[in-house]
Amino acid sequence: MNSFPNFFAKARSCYQVKVGDIAICAINDGFDYLAFTDIVSNDRDLCQRLHENEFRSVPPLLTINCFLIRSQDRLALIDAGYPTPTKTSGKLIEHLDSLGIQPADIDTILMTHMHADHSAGLLDAEERPTFPNAKVFLHKDELAYWLDEGAFARASQVGQDEFRLVRRVVRAYGERIRQLDAEAGQIFPGVRLVETPGHTPGHAAWLVESGSESLLVWGDIIHFPAIQFALPDTCVVYDVDANAAADARKKILAFAAERKLLVAGSHLDFPSFGHVIASHTGYRFVPEVWHPTE
Ligand SMILES: [Zn+2]
Repeated sequence: MNSFPNFFAKARSCYQVKVGDIAICAINDGFDYLAFTDIVSNDRDLCQRLHENEFRSVPPLLTINCFLIRSQDRLALIDAGYPTPTKTSGKLIEHLDSLGIQPADIDTILMTHMHADHSAGLLDAEERPTFPNAKVFLHKDELAYWLDEGAFARASQVGQDEFRLVRRVVRAYGERIRQLDAEAGQIFPGVRLVETPGHTPGHAAWLVESGSESLLVWGDIIHFPAIQFALPDTCVVYDVDANAAADARKKILAFAAERKLLVAGSHLDFPSFGHVIASHTGYRFVPEVWHPTE
């Protein structure tokens, strides 16, 4: 596979949809790998079969998506990507550039949560803010968790590295870090936070609304698309509180299915837009088919 000539390497990983007057572009930051041992379930074999039945790669691929939002001449980003030494991810800035957008043009960053695959891109290689003009919005319980000394002490060594990263981000952005909860309403034109705690204590989704249209963008509600829609009780080892994460998943999937909402997610297969349909004891994801945005 490595020797396959990458003829179309310049093709950019960006895909646009419209929600009323708001333009939203899914930008693929790259990918990482998961393992079946990341799954928390009493029937991991069944989970693995569901994954493989969809012809998905082994080890399982973790798609990493960010979302660019243009509303009333302003630009927001949902999450900031994951620059890593392996370079399989961290392509957000390069892809923004291909759209003619520089980091300084972004005025708002809306965080789903602060795990490294969503927040590491907030700092550049010199540990300065990648986005010099942006305010960074996150749920108040998320900020409290990452600054909590008890939570830091209880974390594994790798976990503690993540706490250190978040603390460096908080220091680098200073006053431009803004904490909020669902009461805050629309903090960017047409966009408001929906609380989905569990994966992390302040984990959030963002609801985009314009006219009669809407889109719900979630963070880490689903890591394994072939497994967790069908079996929404299935958790991952990265959930800070697995029971709460399962509750949040079931609540948001029911909400999306009942309202026939267009959804998108950080780790749904790029470009990740689609609908959730109730099915048997769980749900099914129906990817949105391409249609022109003009
Ligand atoms: Zn994630």
